[in-house]
Amino acid sequence: QKLEVIQVCLSKSTREVERELASRNPQIARLESVKPVSADSFELRVTISEDLEANIRKLKGLLAHSQPGMTTEDLLATLVEIGLEKLDPVRKAKRANSRAQRKDAKKEVQRHQGAAKHKSSAEPVVTADSFRAHETELAQFCGRNVDSPSETRYVPAQKRHEVWRGNKTAGCEFVSEQGERCGSHYALQLDHVVPYSKGGSHDASNLRVLCAKHNRYAWRHHSTIRESFVGYQASA
Ligand SMILES: [Zn+2]
Repeated sequence: QKLEVIQVCLSKSTREVERELASRNPQIARLESVKPVSADSFELRVTISEDLEANIRKLKGLLAHSQPGMTTEDLLATLVEIGLEKLDPVRKAKRANSRAQRKDAKKEVQRHQGAAKHKSSAEPVVTADSFRAHETELAQFCGRNVDSPSETRYVPAQKRHEVWRGNKTAGCEFVSEQGERCGSHYALQLDHVVPYSKGGSHDASNLRVLCAKHNRYAWRHHSTIRESFVGYQASA
């Protein structure tokens, strides 16, 4: 059997070999562990489905607007923080308390503006602020505020949704001169094919989804990219 495994592996890439070995021994792949690797860090090992892996990549792409180059650890930390803000009864109680105290606290801050800077993170005012920061992150998770603030902010929601629905999960719609479609999910934004400032409309036919790289590219080479996009539409 050993020989057979080796023969199978010889013709495959490293990733395919890893999959092949895992499929021969699925229970090993399903083990989950957390073990300390230094005084203050742990190694977390989990096995995830193909779908979850794809969704994690997608979510990193969405969050790349505010946190470019996010690691899986960063993503996990953000998700855990959002989850705790939503579900932890202790934090909920603190927030309720902070709402009641906010008025008083504001007055207090105004009265002692200098001293306010030295307040510890346990103070209710700070807790409320950090919660608002996470509300913003949450909004980004839900797909709000992910469009370029310069032009697409004023595209009516209905039109925006139409474009995103049309894109399905295809990612960046940029097509190279060689006819290759980009497909990246990194920091996707809506872009006007004909700029709004030059009379382009908010119609779905004048909007497309571009990744961060091709958004910058579009700004530099607007006429070139426009031709590529028309080409893509014709071939699709
Ligand atoms: Zn792209």
